[in-house]
Amino acid sequence: MKAVQYRAIGSRPEVVEIDRPDPAPGEVLLKVTASGLCHSDVFVMEMPEEAYTYGLPLTLGHEGAGVVEAVGEGVDPDLVGTSVAVYGPWGCGTCYRCAAGEENYCERATELGIAPPGLGSPGSMAEYMIVDSPRHLVPIGDLDPVQAAALTDAGLTPYHAIKPALPRLVPGSTAVVLGVGGLGHLGIQMIKELSGAQVVALDVTEDKLQLARDVGADHAIMSDDDAVQKVSELTGGRGADLVVDFAGAQATIDLGQQMLGVGGRFTLVGIAGGGPAAKVGFFQVPFESEFVVPYWGYRDELFEVLRLARQGRLTVHTEEFAIDDAPAAYDKLWDGTLRGRAVVRL
Ligand code: NAD
Ligand code: ZN
Ligand code: ZN
Repeated sequence: MKAVQYRAIGSRPEVVEIDRPDPAPGEVLLKVTASGLCHSDVFVMEMPEEAYTYGLPLTLGHEGAGVVEAVGEGVDPDLVGTSVAVYGPWGCGTCYRCAAGEENYCERATELGIAPPGLGSPGSMAEYMIVDSPRHLVPIGDLDPVQAAALTDAGLTPYHAIKPALPRLVPGSTAVVLGVGGLGHLGIQMIKELSGAQVVALDVTEDKLQLARDVGADHAIMSDDDAVQKVSELTGGRGADLVVDFAGAQATIDLGQQMLGVGGRFTLVGIAGGGPAAKVGFFQVPFESEFVVPYWGYRDELFEVLRLARQGRLTVHTEEFAIDDAPAAYDKLWDGTLRGRAVVRL
């Protein structure tokens, strides 16, 4: 079967021919229908050798959808033929966190060597993939798998980042979205759909600002030194109630912190800087403000995101590619020229 692999440190991804896997007991084999490209793939492929822990070669793809092709021993054979999305942050399923559906924060994943598909385990950017447990599948019905695949991360991650902040997003409040890429353009839609906040979106090119307007941002402004003053004006001097940073560069963290109001929440999702620093302390941040660093999302939240999409309340703007063109799609992700999410349709 064809697979898109990262094969050597510092190299670009390649389309290769590898053996189709068989499901072991408890596992599920999917015929992949769609696989999204995430900026985290770029982050991983830019890691220096000493920091890289995902194994080589790595079949990419942590946003997947497919149809159940076969099941391993002990798995319900009625699942065969079901169209599903893959919940990616696999955990052990039995620890305290996993019991709550919070498998992204599994207490034992590292100890047990459990890694998400495309980030340690063979991913969805292949004609077939193994899912370690049927627990990690969500039936998608007639939802387009290209939409569903992207929603497993570009949807789930912003949803998990925004949902806890909803009580503060009352009418008249302001949410700032930094970075209108795969995650950001969905984050804007969620805030508009689920809250009374006005959304101010920032990015660095006019194309991205237009995408922000197209998906419902009330204001879309260039991410530059004037932006802090503009947000101040748009909030009557109060500052933002929520800032979600979907870029995560030092520049966006610095900007976003200056935009925050008293009691505001700064949510850092992006990892562009690979470990940038926030300034926290008296006279550095507004009183009672908080700073959180979430990772991916919970299992039940993926159901909620997919339901929003099925109701037509969330739409992923996609650029579609064939699997042979996946390396070219990654080039576009590297160059920052994609609109919305790049997804390989199989
Ligand atoms: P993307 O490339 O599609 O979007 C990033 C956007 O940020 C682009 O539109 C880019 O133009 C914009 N940007 C860059 N510099 C900016 C600046 N100075 N000001 C404003 N905007 C700027 O990437 P994506 O796939 O949406 O991922 C976004 C980030 O989130 C990445 O760093 C990714 O690794 C990270 N991520 C984190 C999690 C998590 O669980 N925390 C999950 C998925 C992705
Ligand atoms: Zn991702
Ligand atoms: Zn666990």
